[in-house]
Amino acid sequence: MMLCIFGNPVSHSKSPLMHNSVIKHLGIKGCYARYKLEDGKKIKERFFQLNLLGANVTVPHKESAFALCDEVRGVAQKIQAVNTLVREGDKMIGYNTDAEGFLKAIEEFDYRNILIIGAGGTAKALCTILHMHNKKFALINRSEGRLDFFKAQGFQTFTWESFENDSYDLVINTTSAGLEDDALPLPEAMMREVLQKARFGVDAIYGKQTPFLKLAQSLSLQTKDGSDLLLYQGLLAFNYFTQGRYSLKAIEKYMRASFRL
Ligand code: NDP
Repeated sequence: MMLCIFGNPVSHSKSPLMHNSVIKHLGIKGCYARYKLEDGKKIKERFFQLNLLGANVTVPHKESAFALCDEVRGVAQKIQAVNTLVREGDKMIGYNTDAEGFLKAIEEFDYRNILIIGAGGTAKALCTILHMHNKKFALINRSEGRLDFFKAQGFQTFTWESFENDSYDLVINTTSAGLEDDALPLPEAMMREVLQKARFGVDAIYGKQTPFLKLAQSLSLQTKDGSDLLLYQGLLAFNYFTQGRYSLKAIEKYMRASFRL
């Protein structure tokens, strides 16, 4: 079973570690590799040339992958981005497991009303799945430009200037603020005001105490980083690759083990 992740850059990706841990522990013959792909239009060609059974897709190729699939299933049709490809005969089928993965990552929180910060690909996946599950949420982004997708679906959106602070009990940072700098995703006073009314804080960024998570913890919120999101999108992808042949519990156990390496 040959699998890989397509992206650019892709060297930082944890997916090979996660999937290879499951492959090894389940005694499957195969491996999961990294493939740095410069041109997203080539994804389908490479997918078949490499004789892959499945693949993951990361930044910046999720939209190109969506456009090139022979068939797109589930929530990916609405998000218009795929992060998981599966070969079925001579067809390349696309799924989006980021969305379901995010929903699973926050299910431990007893939330009613969510504020999503950021309006990139991660926010699109999250809002789409929350809407499908009739969850209450609003979204805020630094700039107006990226809000069109969200407005077109009738979602409540704000910029920093137009923001009205309702009581949001779960606040999710989907921006890259804090990834490689010390920035908060909102101006500090606004961020504090939002978090003071909240109970839970989640960051999509993983493996790092971001300024967002630090501030949320200092205000006594229950928090988590993006590790579970990463884990669950991978778990669901592996389940598609292997067409449900293995128990989700076993996949989760061995994938989680790779986080300790
Ligand atoms: P995009 O590039 O699509 O979107 C980035 C968003 O962040 C934009 O809305 C942008 O706002 C906002 N932003 C960037 N910098 C700042 C800042 N300093 N202050 C406020 N807003 C800012 O990114 P993705 O949605 O693909 O990814 C977002 C984050 O999620 C990344 O950090 C990534 O590492 C993480 N991620 C984690 C995953 C996991 O498995 N845990 C999976 C996928 C992503 P503007 O429009 O104003 O520029």
